[in-house]
Amino acid sequence: MEENIIKFEDMQLSKKVLNAVKDMGFEEPSPIQAKTIPLALEGHDVIGQAQTGTGKTAAFGIPTIEQIDEKNKYIQALVLTPTRELAIQIAEEFNKIGKYKKVKTLPVYGGQMIDRQIRALRFGVKIVVGTPGRLIDHIRRNTIKLDHVKTLILDEADEMLDMGFIEDIEEIMSNLAQKEDRQTLLFSATMPAPIEKLARKYMNDPKKVMISREQITVPSVDQLYFETRDKFEGLCRVLDIEDSGKYIIFCRTKKNVDDLQASLQVRGYMVGSLHGDMSQAQRDRVMRRFREGKLEILIATDVAARGIDIDDISHVINFDIPQDPESYVHRIGRTGRAGRTGIAVTFIEPKEYRQLKSIERMTKSRMIRGELPTPADVIERQREAIKERLLKTLNNNTYADYHMIISDIANEGYDYVDIAAAALQLSIEGVKEKDDKPLDERFENTGGAPGMVRLFLNIGRKQGIRPQDIVRSFASEVDIPGSIIGVINIYDKFTFVEVPKDIAEKVISVMHRNTIKGYKLNIEPAKGKEDNKK
Ligand code: AMP
Repeated sequence: MEENIIKFEDMQLSKKVLNAVKDMGFEEPSPIQAKTIPLALEGHDVIGQAQTGTGKTAAFGIPTIEQIDEKNKYIQALVLTPTRELAIQIAEEFNKIGKYKKVKTLPVYGGQMIDRQIRALRFGVKIVVGTPGRLIDHIRRNTIKLDHVKTLILDEADEMLDMGFIEDIEEIMSNLAQKEDRQTLLFSATMPAPIEKLARKYMNDPKKVMISREQITVPSVDQLYFETRDKFEGLCRVLDIEDSGKYIIFCRTKKNVDDLQASLQVRGYMVGSLHGDMSQAQRDRVMRRFREGKLEILIATDVAARGIDIDDISHVINFDIPQDPESYVHRIGRTGRAGRTGIAVTFIEPKEYRQLKSIERMTKSRMIRGELPTPADVIERQREAIKERLLKTLNNNTYADYHMIISDIANEGYDYVDIAAAALQLSIEGVKEKDDKPLDERFENTGGAPGMVRLFLNIGRKQGIRPQDIVRSFASEVDIPGSIIGVINIYDKFTFVEVPKDIAEKVISVMHRNTIKGYKLNIEPAKGKEDNKK
């Protein structure tokens, strides 16, 4: 794969498109792009066998937008796609690619007010992405003009077939120029017979493009994956629960690398990053610090990580799922070297599950589904880590200089356990200011039912919070049965939740500054009626 790298710069692309692609953070074409874009730019019809996640949208988007004539005010390209979500996603990606060329793409799908679409269609749209049903609607109403369409794209053709859209597609095609007078690009994950037939009938000597499926061998590394809607939170928990190690985290784009580095730095991790734009001196400096252990985490794109040669990487983390099986194998091959055991962790959002399965299939390997540690696990792990460090210090017996201070304080009547706990807090958190009242005193009068503590949360109806969100997140994060949670009152901007007294402290320590539905939580004992009067 690495031998014949093709760059975007080597393709016949205008500055405007090239710069837009750079802004999107794409450093080099994905395999499907490397094969499709040159063919499409030469004017060939192309059949691409590729799934979501391989970069197929840009594979047909880049050449299509490159070939749009900005001065021609008509719709020049039409993309047919099975679902509205996909139509929106494709239009978003096209609008990014076309931003300097000022090529506008409009998504058109069922469920949205047709009048609004009709109005939008009048405003100089050059590309339309639509679901077949809604497009037919527009064609029949004569609210869309397709006689200047030079490029037709069928995306996820097999899905459209499964959804019964074939006749609609044929009707739409009959409204377009003859196959000889237009370019047709067809993308499909599989090639069932009806799609082959469609291609034969409506495409002009198409070139077939596939991502190779030959077997790729995976090094022996423990492979795990986590499915989560909040990859960043998940990553932090994984980092917090693991013993120290050397981590490489892979992101898809330069921008993702920068964003992740900034977010991790804010949380106090020692992070460095590599991307294609860096000078050799900058790269060397980061690599040296990583090798010497001054950085525990290195974040990189696939391109930037090429040529990294470090033997003792303990974890490879795919923060963004790789676009093809080859790069998965390359990435995880960076750990488990020289006889050491390595761990490869892949984070996916629920919609990426199919892509994960396809990587497993093509690499003939299996990733074990992992359960993300709960914040309670993380706290427990931190306790253990503190204990380990303390025991090590005790065993090393290097603290004689401090004996005097402790015995002085003990002579003043303080308990040894208290002194030890205070010393530990001092070393970990520094001097902490005293809260008005100790926490358990603040549990006394919260207005909760007997035996319960009423807690105040700073989120409510305005944030779309429902009782089940609270129960689900308390139960999974704090690791308690949902049934022990008491009354929940949700107001516009805040919520009261009752929990049993004996777990109230745990709930606060786990949930405070945690998130529910992406909102950061402040949680504290509620003020009871008596307190409010004060
Ligand atoms: P797709 O297969 O079109 O759904 O693309 C999957 C994801 O990969 C999208 O988030 C794209 O923005 C991203 N992507 C596409 N091409 C590249 C590339 N050459 N380099 C990095 N990311 C890419």
